[in-house]
Amino acid sequence: MDKRTFIKSSTSLAIASYIFPKELFGLNLENKTFELPELPYTYHALEPAIDKLTMEIHYSRHHKAYVDGLNKALLSQNISFQSINDILANVSTLPIAFRNHGGGHFNHSFFWNILTAPNTSVCSGAIHEAITKKWGSLESFKEEFTKTAISRFGSGWAWLILDTQRQLSIVSTSNQDNPLMDLAESKGTPLLALDVWEHAYYLKYQNKRADYIAAFWTIINWNKVNQLYTSSK
Ligand code: MN
Repeated sequence: MDKRTFIKSSTSLAIASYIFPKELFGLNLENKTFELPELPYTYHALEPAIDKLTMEIHYSRHHKAYVDGLNKALLSQNISFQSINDILANVSTLPIAFRNHGGGHFNHSFFWNILTAPNTSVCSGAIHEAITKKWGSLESFKEEFTKTAISRFGSGWAWLILDTQRQLSIVSTSNQDNPLMDLAESKGTPLLALDVWEHAYYLKYQNKRADYIAAFWTIINWNKVNQLYTSSK
């Protein structure tokens, strides 16, 4: 296959480089492959919201499988890209493996980095103001996000994004799709993400997705979400 250079990548949808540098996604520009990026905390750091075993399996097996799958897909295609965003912004033109594994790699790298130890972070600053302005209160926002996450049928993600109109919006994607993909129904810059695949919670919560989501609210790194918001808007 001829070398293809992506031209569609949109800087307006770029992840803020201040919070999420390229290294976050383990991109090795020399050999054009991705490495599993380091977790920003230990496996037990999010307990009791997310138990150690779930964290270990989720990161070292599930996330790693997405990285391996993405690298395998890259080996089969000679494409020119500078970032994971380039791949996502052109994913409709690529084989399905890029959608599944490129999405999986981005989503998990992002997810790990907006989480922190339970009850150590409070929603404040510009993001708190913006959420309150849009939903009336933080509680109302949480309710709507929770509803979206619970009603995602099967596997997928719930997101808080800054949409293409620069408005905060709660959206949901199936499987490993995300709002940075050119094929996404609702596009935007992710500010907050929640993995609602069963592998993310089944060991501890079994079928009780609502309990997992309730625990999620205790482990959000609002400082990061706020920095993402202020550097993206
Ligand atoms: Mn997952």
